[in-house]
Amino acid sequence: MDFDTARAKLIGSLAREITDKRVLSVMARVPRHVFIPPDVQVYAYEDRPLPIGGDQTISQPYIVALMTQYLELTGNEKVLEIGTGSGYQTAILAELARYIVSTERIAALAEKARVVLDILGYGNVEVHTAEETLGWKSGAPYDAIIATAGAPCVPDDLVAQLAVGGRMVIPVGSRDNQELVKVTRLKTGTHVEHLDMCRFVPLIGKGAWE
Ligand code: SAH
Repeated sequence: MDFDTARAKLIGSLAREITDKRVLSVMARVPRHVFIPPDVQVYAYEDRPLPIGGDQTISQPYIVALMTQYLELTGNEKVLEIGTGSGYQTAILAELARYIVSTERIAALAEKARVVLDILGYGNVEVHTAEETLGWKSGAPYDAIIATAGAPCVPDDLVAQLAVGGRMVIPVGSRDNQELVKVTRLKTGTHVEHLDMCRFVPLIGKGAWE
């Protein structure tokens, strides 16, 4: 099966559970195989995470779709992503929002992602090698934040970078199992919703895992 056919089939099966048509149509276009190492490209359109080097993984397409759907993007948002990894989720966000700031702890992954995003022509994205503090303070406030690695609790440093009315989707739990949590910043305090169970690699740093 060629990549285009395989991708169409994958999106067809995601459409049984994902209701946001914008998310589905973007995922039907963005070539996931371009973001992963050659030896795993044959699996690019199976609904599973895949190794991308440095002990990290590209997230499962269903999870990418689900988390993106929870962000409720309409096209005008400034979005922060923590954990660029392959850059695939970054590309999906870049198609659905105005501007994306993404940070990645592993410099080599950040560089690879930058190259792919550049080749695909995404001019509304900046990828940074992460600093010690979570997120990217100088770009704040953000209308939406997505963390693609799991934290032990909702990090205060990230809530502080959300605009009032902004929302963050983040996996929270133990190192091995987490729950997707959606945090909306209110004028005073936050509103927290508990969503689906999931499994992510750990978010590492101050305010997360050692
Ligand atoms: N969205 C990515 C997921 C990559 S896995 C994709 O689909 O390809 C999560 C990534 O988060 C890993 O690359 C890991 O290195 C990175 N990460 C972990 N802790 C981080 C931190 N504190 N800041 C930025 N990135 C971090």
